[in-house]
Amino acid sequence: MKLVRWGERGTERPGILDGAGRVRDLSGKVDGDFAGPGVALDALDRLRDVAVDSLPEVPEGTRLGACLGWVPSFLCIGLNYAKHAAETGAEPPKEPILFSKAASALSGPFDPVVIPRGSEKTDWEVELGVVIGRETLYVDEAEALSCVAGYCTVNDVSERAFQIERGGQWIKGKSAPTFGPCGPWLVTADEVPDPQALKLSLSLNGETVQDSDTSDMIFGVAEIVSYMSRFMRLMPGDIIATGTPSGVGMGMRPQRFLTPGDVMELEVEGLGRQRQEAVAAT
Ligand code: ZN
Repeated sequence: MKLVRWGERGTERPGILDGAGRVRDLSGKVDGDFAGPGVALDALDRLRDVAVDSLPEVPEGTRLGACLGWVPSFLCIGLNYAKHAAETGAEPPKEPILFSKAASALSGPFDPVVIPRGSEKTDWEVELGVVIGRETLYVDEAEALSCVAGYCTVNDVSERAFQIERGGQWIKGKSAPTFGPCGPWLVTADEVPDPQALKLSLSLNGETVQDSDTSDMIFGVAEIVSYMSRFMRLMPGDIIATGTPSGVGMGMRPQRFLTPGDVMELEVEGLGRQRQEAVAAT
């Protein structure tokens, strides 16, 4: 299933893509929102019998919001592609690097990205997003993918000066409002048989700058989920951004960061395409 949330910001309703790629209205079929317990594996299983083609069609051009209404935790993996680690001047990590974004950074896939006040180094990061489907603690690698509800495209937007030059944890550079576009689709795990075989790319103003494949990850999704579950209880609806490949602005020579009017278009294979315009903070 490819699940969406459609409508104006803050009042989105659940939807699902039909076989022709049209959005159908799932209102009344979903208990609450696609978020937290609403994307637990059992909640999603209850949707599998819905006769999608009999649902009302949502008008074409209707805004799609983030594929999750809210997130319990917005978790991230750092430096998970060897060439990206190299472009930042870092050694490839020996264990997964964990950090987080503020949950309030969650944003729609087509909503503008707001360059925060005082920012000179706002940067892009296309990533495979993993959405957890059940409480997960001490899961071994062989079982880890059975804890995944689905996958989505994520832009882990990052302010490099806030992240790296201002001390403390990376969360400071990862958390501004609109820094976490997710979606447009939450694609259930049954439709992604191998999360390590997905192309992912990002273009800036039409020029491809990131172009890689999840097979290039240092730590794969199963390893990441198992590893994280040794340190925390992952909860239904938690999202994990699994790291970005090379081609971010901080790795360019000269470095290149977002200015108002720049357009990012990004996609993870099979998970849908995002498009954001960078705008100045007001
Ligand atoms: Zn990232």
